[in-house]
Amino acid sequence: MEGDYFVDAHTHFVSFGLHLERPDLSKTKSLKEAISLLKKEVGKRGIIIGEDWDESRWEEKRFPAKEELDREFPDVPVIMRRICGHVAVANTRALELIPPGWKYVREDGVLLEDVVLNLNRIFPPSFDEIKRAILRAQEVALHLNVGEIHDVLIPEYYRAYLELEKEGKLKIKVLGFVLDEFRDFEEPEGKFVKFGGWKIFLDGSIGARTAALEKFSYTDGGKGMLLHEDEELEELFKLARERGKVLMIHAIGDRAIEQVLRVGKGRVCGDRIEHFELARDEQIERAIEEGFILSMQPNFIGNWSHGGGLYEKNLGRDYRINNRIGLIYRKGGKILFGSDMMPFSPPYGIDSVVRAPFPEQRLSYREAYKIYTSSSFFSKNNQPS
Ligand SMILES: [Zn+2]
Repeated sequence: MEGDYFVDAHTHFVSFGLHLERPDLSKTKSLKEAISLLKKEVGKRGIIIGEDWDESRWEEKRFPAKEELDREFPDVPVIMRRICGHVAVANTRALELIPPGWKYVREDGVLLEDVVLNLNRIFPPSFDEIKRAILRAQEVALHLNVGEIHDVLIPEYYRAYLELEKEGKLKIKVLGFVLDEFRDFEEPEGKFVKFGGWKIFLDGSIGARTAALEKFSYTDGGKGMLLHEDEELEELFKLARERGKVLMIHAIGDRAIEQVLRVGKGRVCGDRIEHFELARDEQIERAIEEGFILSMQPNFIGNWSHGGGLYEKNLGRDYRINNRIGLIYRKGGKILFGSDMMPFSPPYGIDSVVRAPFPEQRLSYREAYKIYTSSSFFSKNNQPS
């Protein structure tokens, strides 16, 4: 096994790096301490985004208030994002900068969901900040012995990778996928930076009960929903074949998986289904037969698949069929492993699948290691130095 490195096939590497570059509030013991930490950033950045506070660890035991942020930071936009990543509090200066149309911006400065999840798009980092973020994330990757990542990108992020390669600073291989809205994306490739193709989301997530279900249901009776018509996915398949690229298709629920299988039938050429969490028996057979690559996250098992965990809470008895990596592997399916940054740690993913609660999920250590270190996109002996 010597000389091997991990390939993380599903990351949000730039976002991860941006996060690491920002003031970390996770260790603060009071709101007061958090605010004084943010004050040190005044003058260093256009907007100050503090990450990962948790009011339960603070003496004050409460959220920050817009008024106090206004008082402490009258001239600088400040946003404090809570550890869950779904809630933040902004001061008036920051609120003024959020374009209309973003959902869940409250007058008291509390931001929810959409707007919080998209902070990097609402307040785009500069090109230099993007490059710094990549280098910061790369330090973590090298420490974990991750030598190749697949990242979901906007064009600017891709260019930052390319430029870092030119400067000789990139030490890992990068396969970039851009969101499907960037259909015309056409960029040169480097030796270690390649353009994979397009990413499309067919459904949401099990946590938010928005993954599209067919034979299964959520415990509240909900079924989630599909985000695209068949025709839209069909068009994307055409584009990928014309340009010799592949699709990264996010499909979690059995209804979304059904849509990929239906539209992709006879058209597959290296395309990947991301997550593939709730596939039925016959869907697993068909996906393998069509030649889809199944890009799965073994750490999801460790995070949510134990009894009483998120899968059982949201899916009830049916939750047992989640992430059947072992079954897929033994049927000869092509599997890639990725962390989705939850957390960014191949060893944790391997441990999760080795200790999985259900036999159909489980792999041996050796099998899991083999998957997490294999890639067909770059030659293994050719490494950035
Ligand atoms: Zn992801």
